[in-house]
Amino acid sequence: MGRRLRIAAAVAIVVWFFVPELHGAIPLWLPFLALAALELNFLVAGLRERGSGRGSRGRGAQETDVEELGGEAWREPIIVEVGGRDVWLSSDLELEPPWEPPPRRPRLWPRLEGLAVLAVVGAVLFWVVPERGWRGLSGAERAQTEARLSSEAARIAGHPTRVRCDAKGEAVGVVQHADGLAEIGGTNAFLTPEICFRLHRLAFEDDEGSFSQTARAIAVLAHEAWHLHGERDEGVTNCKAFQSGVALGQRLGLSEETAARMMRQQLADNATYARSAPEYLVPRGCRI
Ligand SMILES: [Zn+2]
Repeated sequence: MGRRLRIAAAVAIVVWFFVPELHGAIPLWLPFLALAALELNFLVAGLRERGSGRGSRGRGAQETDVEELGGEAWREPIIVEVGGRDVWLSSDLELEPPWEPPPRRPRLWPRLEGLAVLAVVGAVLFWVVPERGWRGLSGAERAQTEARLSSEAARIAGHPTRVRCDAKGEAVGVVQHADGLAEIGGTNAFLTPEICFRLHRLAFEDDEGSFSQTARAIAVLAHEAWHLHGERDEGVTNCKAFQSGVALGQRLGLSEETAARMMRQQLADNATYARSAPEYLVPRGCRI
C-alpha cells in the first residue's frame, strides 16, 4: 500500500511537469509535499521496526511459551532413531551450545533510498524552477517588470513602447524560434517569459544569475528596442543591441565591467549563431 502511494505521488510530480495546464491549478509543492510525507512515514516506520527488534516481527516464541514447552533446551530439539521410532531429545544433550541465528536487523537502506530519490528530484526541481519563474511572480510584480522593460526599451527606441512578456507563447516562444518580437518602428514588443524573468531577477532582486543567460536577456531586450526604433536589418540591430546593452545592463544593476564583458561575449558568440541564421551576423567592424 505504502509503496503504491509513493509511486502514485512520484507519477503525479512527473505528470505535473509535462502538463503545463496543471501549473496554474495545482502548486508544485502539493504533490511534492505528499511524496515527502510518505517517504518520511516510510522511514519512521522502518526506524520503529528496527528499534523494537525481532519480537514485533512475529518471529520466535515468547518467553512464556518456551517455559510451557520445557524450557530453552527444547527450542532446538534433536531427533534420534531409537528402535525404529523417532525420539525427540532436548538440545541439552549436545556438548555445543545450541545454534542461534544471528539477530537480523531490518535493513534501513531501502527506506533511505526513497529519501535519496526525493532529494535528487528536489535538486532537479530547484534547477528547473527558475525557468518557469515568470508564472510564479505575482500580477503586481509582472506589471512592474513589464513597465520597467517598457521604459528601458523606450530610452533606446526614442518613443514610448509597450513591452509584454508573453506568457501564453502565442507571439513569442518555441514555435517562433525567437526570444523576442517587435514591430519595426512601432510601439509593441514581446519577450519570452524566460527573458523577462531573468531581467526581473536582475532589476528587482539583484540577482545577476548565470552570465550567459543574463547577457542573452539584456541583448534580446536591446535588440527588440532597436527594432522599435526603426532598425530593420537583423545584423545591424544586433550590433547596436550589443553596444547599448552595456549601459542597459548597468541601469539594470550590473557593474560597467560585467555588463561590458557580457556584451563582448554576445558579440563573440554572434559568428557561431549566425552560421545557422546569416541575416543575424553583425556588420564587419562592429565594436563594443
Ligand atoms: Zn530581430
